[in-house]
Amino acid sequence: MDSIELKRFWEKVKEELIGTLPESVHPWIYSLEVSGFDKDMLTVVTGQAMARDWLRKNHTEQINSIIRKLSKNTNAQINIIYDLNAAKQIKKETEKIHKKEVEKQLKEQAMENLSYMQSYANLNLKYKFENFVVGPNNKFAHAAAMAVAKKPAGKYNPLFIYGNAGLGKTHLMQAIGHYTIFNNPKLKVKYTKTDDYINDFISNSRKTNNSVENMAKFNKKYTDIGIILIDDIQFLESKEKSMERMQHTFDTLYNKGKQIVITSDRLPTEIPKLTEALASRFQMGLMVELTPPDFDTRKEIVKKLAADNDIKAEEDALNYIAKNFSNNVRELEGAFTKVCAYAEINNKNFTLSLAKEVLKCKENEKNLTFNTITNVTSSYCKVDINDIKGTARNQKVSVARQLAIYLCRELTNQSFEAIGEFFNKKHTTIMYAYEQIKNKVNTDKELAIDIREIKQALKVI
Ligand code: ADP
Ligand code: MG
Repeated sequence: MDSIELKRFWEKVKEELIGTLPESVHPWIYSLEVSGFDKDMLTVVTGQAMARDWLRKNHTEQINSIIRKLSKNTNAQINIIYDLNAAKQIKKETEKIHKKEVEKQLKEQAMENLSYMQSYANLNLKYKFENFVVGPNNKFAHAAAMAVAKKPAGKYNPLFIYGNAGLGKTHLMQAIGHYTIFNNPKLKVKYTKTDDYINDFISNSRKTNNSVENMAKFNKKYTDIGIILIDDIQFLESKEKSMERMQHTFDTLYNKGKQIVITSDRLPTEIPKLTEALASRFQMGLMVELTPPDFDTRKEIVKKLAADNDIKAEEDALNYIAKNFSNNVRELEGAFTKVCAYAEINNKNFTLSLAKEVLKCKENEKNLTFNTITNVTSSYCKVDINDIKGTARNQKVSVARQLAIYLCRELTNQSFEAIGEFFNKKHTTIMYAYEQIKNKVNTDKELAIDIREIKQALKVI
């Protein structure tokens, strides 16, 4: 028995003693502090000599039988010692343990409540802000989600998050939910997938023939809350009745001053047959886009995956994965998990050669050089390669140079120093050029098209 178990055992014994022995001896029972249970001997200490004498003389048999019953040891017996100082000391320790236990219990209880609330709200425990890696592609969406979580129904209502599949829309949306449950537990959170909403609506209509009473019940289910998270709203496409109902839900929530967060894989205007009324409601608050992460962010994501799962992966293996899965974070994670699984099953280390063997990415065989990248950029931009590598500063040349530098960094993951050597420039100049493009790539549509076309010419996408 460790000391906590011993204290617990003694608490049980004491409880039975109080229930069995006459009230006149209760104060003496309370004066007993447990100090050890060695072999068959349960030793207790008291600071009152009378307690020891009286209990020993009159109740030894009763005490022993209770101890034997509770410890399931038929030879167990009590040994009462009188020692004022020891009794005081043990009492102090017991109080300390008791306080710790109570605190621990309270904490466990709180955690249980939280995870109950989280599962009730229908959230995935992984999708929290702490687990979301912020990069240039998502920093605006992340900041907006954070602002909504901190101050629901404030400036951004509704918050409309859009972007291609696998870029973190659901993650970011649910992060708002977790944050709220943790920091603002009185506010009720509901996460619903749009197709679940539609199915619920249809089955409810069938069962109840749209009776007013039942529709009101349905409505209440989606509006009697503080924050609603509606995922993948594009599934509303062409479903007129469901759109009508959604508009109702939206208006009720909005008018009650509740926060609405919506995700979609496209803009409201691109959802087939979405009513004008709904489209304009969705655009009323703030719309934020998620775009594919750049190399550094992808690297950060796989590094975090390795750290969180306690996996020792070779740096080059992580680079290889980050380099080859660039359009979709879900696929990036999938590639990482696949290599992990393979390493574990075959009892191998997570190395670059294993990653190559498992993932067999085509691009890797390509091994692009600075020269090829710069050549292709030069002919795409119609700027001579010598000018790109030279010092001319006119607009056209500067842009081509920045593009070539950006692509060299993105596609080869070589250091700024190495790129600088190739371009005959200082690494700080290279870094600056790279940052210029990186900062614009998510907002400047034409630039994004240029990059995509050069990448296509290089056959990396
Ligand atoms: P979407 O809803 O846009 O299709 P998800 O939110 O389901 O995408 O994200 C797909 C996977 O990628 C999830 O496992 C998610 O945790 C992960 N993910 C996406 N973006 C990030 C990020 N910035 N940091 C960490 N993980 C991310
Ligand atoms: Mg999603």
